[in-house]
Amino acid sequence: MDYDVIIIGCGVIGADCAYELAKYALRVGILEASNDVANGTTKANSAIVHAGYDPLPGTKMARLNVRGSAMMGELCRKLDVPYRNNGSLVVSLSEEDDETLRELYARGAANGVPGLRLLTGDEALALEPNLSPGVRGALLAPSAGIVNPWELCLALAETAVRNGAELHLSAPVTAIGRIENGWMLCTPKGRFTARYVVNAAGTRADQIAGMVGDRSFAIKPTKGEYYLLDKSEGSRVDRVIFQCPSKAGKGVLVTPTVHGNLLVGPDATPTEPENTANTAAGMAFVKASAQRSVPGINFRDNIRNFAGVRANSDHEDFIIEESAVAPGFFHAAGIRSPGLSAAPAIGPEVLDLLRQAGLELNAKAEYTDSRRRIRFHELSEEEKNEMIRKDPRWGRVICRCETVTEGEIVEALHTPIPPVSVNGVKRRVGAGMGRCQGGFCGPRVQEIIARELGLDPTEVLMDWEGTWVLCGETKGGAKA
Ligand SMILES: Cc1cc2nc3c(=O)[nH]c(=O)nc-3n(C[C@H](O)[C@H](O)[C@H](O)COP(=O)(O)OP(=O)(O)OC[C@H]3O[C@@H](n4cnc5c(N)ncnc54)[C@H](O)[C@@H]3O)c2cc1C
Repeated sequence: MDYDVIIIGCGVIGADCAYELAKYALRVGILEASNDVANGTTKANSAIVHAGYDPLPGTKMARLNVRGSAMMGELCRKLDVPYRNNGSLVVSLSEEDDETLRELYARGAANGVPGLRLLTGDEALALEPNLSPGVRGALLAPSAGIVNPWELCLALAETAVRNGAELHLSAPVTAIGRIENGWMLCTPKGRFTARYVVNAAGTRADQIAGMVGDRSFAIKPTKGEYYLLDKSEGSRVDRVIFQCPSKAGKGVLVTPTVHGNLLVGPDATPTEPENTANTAAGMAFVKASAQRSVPGINFRDNIRNFAGVRANSDHEDFIIEESAVAPGFFHAAGIRSPGLSAAPAIGPEVLDLLRQAGLELNAKAEYTDSRRRIRFHELSEEEKNEMIRKDPRWGRVICRCETVTEGEIVEALHTPIPPVSVNGVKRRVGAGMGRCQGGFCGPRVQEIIARELGLDPTEVLMDWEGTWVLCGETKGGAKA
């Protein structure tokens, strides 16, 4: 066998499974369809660490959300991932909402969410003065927070790789066959064998299950669209502001991001797995809905729109189980929201299932459970000068909006999971995330990628396979 365990998909769920498995003396392989990790749902969501009052008591979603949320702060501290425990408010704007708040409070208490409190309208406005003056009350959840979802996924995957897990990018699983004592998985990069397989393929998890004859669930992809506003709007609210879920939908949230921007969204419309196009109707709905709870948002400061696709399924709960028809094949599927919040607890849950199925877990004698990334703009003046003295590239600012230096980009290009695209660099160091959205730094980032990875400039990608930025003759005479 090539591996003891193969994980299909390297979003935050596959990455957390790999992170947990890499603590043990096991051969772990990860097969990811995209050319980077965190390129599916994990890169486009609300980035909220939910407190856990929303899922129905007794569900895996409730248990793993509350546990994952409690684990998130320490995990992010260890792996140097931006996280802020800023708390959340669900606001009531009608009599019907008042009743919903009481239900959410009771559900949260049953789920074991710490510190929940029902506030009057005045108390809510005292905490968040930019809420609608019509706010009648709110549910305060102090344990909620915000996180950088793609950096969390990258940090988990990077730590797993540093500890011996093998990541195969651009390796979509196209077929799976039973072999003696395990499974064979076919990809364009070759065939891989493993004793156990974990299906963490997000919106494609039902297709992967179908490859082993398991048709016990279907994914119902559901799109959510967003506005991302400039940092000038970033302090409009301090906490995550939710509306009450109602017959009309779950409501639109308004939240600061860990980067200091304001995020507004999402809506919910049925779609195809990779359809992340924004629509005029979706954007209009999000804008009008958000203004009900936070009326003063200046949408003229919008710097980007994007959409993410939820891996909702025809089951009410997360599907985390061994397949009933394919022993040794495990699903971590239908991981809808609050999947990001629950992620730190989902890896250990899968590990436990594998252990029960016979996987021996012997802790590694040596295991590195930490990660550091230098963020130049966060350093003191002395530290900055020291970095520049050692290597002048740390003093060359490439992204002026976010103050990202050449040193940071070069360092990212030589990590265990190096980016292969302009957006891969953006996700790692933030170059192109600011007000100009890469208008200034894009070409410089392309140059640095080409130089460091030994590519012709025409080979540099914007994001996934086939998204070349340049075509035609380059100065050195390279082909189009
Ligand atoms: C609009 C929206 C808002 C959300 N907001 C929140 C929130 O605020 N808080 C929260 O907790 N959760 C939220 N979620 C949910 C959260 O984002 C997901 O639960 C989480 O990202 C799921 O991660 P994943 O690893 O299961 O899926 P993904 O990140 O999609 O990863 C699956 C991976 O599998 C790969 N793959 C697919 N097919 C194959 C194949 N054949 N072979 C190999 N690899 C394959 C894909 O390329 C992908 O990288 C939100 C989701 C959406 C869409």
